[in-house]
Parts: sequence; C-alpha cells; structure tokens
Amino acid sequence: MARKTIEERFNAKVRMDADGCHRWVACTNSEGYGYFWDGTRPVFAHRWAYSAAHGEIPKGMDIDHMCWNKECVNVEHLRITTRKQNLENVSALQGNNTSGYQGVTWHKHARKWCARIKHNGKRIHVGYFNDINEANDAVIEARNKYFTHNDLDRAS
Ligand SMILES: [Zn+2]
Repeated sequence: MARKTIEERFNAKVRMDADGCHRWVACTNSEGYGYFWDGTRPVFAHRWAYSAAHGEIPKGMDIDHMCWNKECVNVEHLRITTRKQNLENVSALQGNNTSGYQGVTWHKHARKWCARIKHNGKRIHVGYFNDINEANDAVIEARNKYFTHNDLDRAS
C-alpha cells in the first residue's frame, strides 16, 4: 500500500461541516486546539493548515480563528495576527515542555528526561530516560496503551 502523504493524513482527521468549518476530529489539547504530528513533532493543526496554504508562519505571529471554533482548520477562517493577548493559544505545546516532544520534559534533579502522559485528567509517570528519543518512544507507547484513539502517534 502506498504511503499516505502528509496532506492525506491531515485531511483524514478533518470533518467538513455545513457551517463552513473544517473541524479537527483527532487529538486536541485541553483548550480545544487540534494536534497534528507533522512527521517530526506535534504541531497545532490550524497552524499546520495555515502554513500549508500560505507558507511558513513568521516568528512571533499567531493564527487567529475568525469563526471562533478552535478546532477549525479551514484556512479561509484563519488569519495571521501579531502575538498579543493570544498567548494562551500556544501554551499547551510550548509551555511546560522543554524537549520539543509532547510529554517529555527535562528533570533537573534527576538529570534525565522525564516521560509522562495525561489520561482522564490524571498524570501517569512513564519513566526517566537518559536518551530523549527513548523517552519519546516510551511516551508514544504509553499513549497507544492508554488512548484507544491516538491518531497523533499511530497515523503515519
Ligand atoms: Zn471555521
């Protein structure tokens, strides 16, 4: 079977609704923004959609939802804005994450990478790792175990 393109993987997670919004139906963060695994790292789905259509988003710029649907990835409903009070929009991926991998943070005292996942609102500790890639693999394995619909890591 031919490997799916990144666009096909993305579009498979989108539901076109009658109101014109293209709703992300895969993983979202606690604030309702969709996550998409771009092949290297998790990114926000609406930002990925915007940059796929318009090119890379300049540093320091935010993508604003004109339709107020956070899970919407319809590029016609997205516009680029300067970073303002919108900071909460980027907090989930960037805040509390120093590794670039979701669920993997540097533990200062242990001097190791700490892997954990969140399931049903509870934090589940996966383990400490010397190698960041091992930590990331462990997080993905744990997510696959706990989450029955883990499109973030499975679809590739
Ligand atoms: Zn929309």
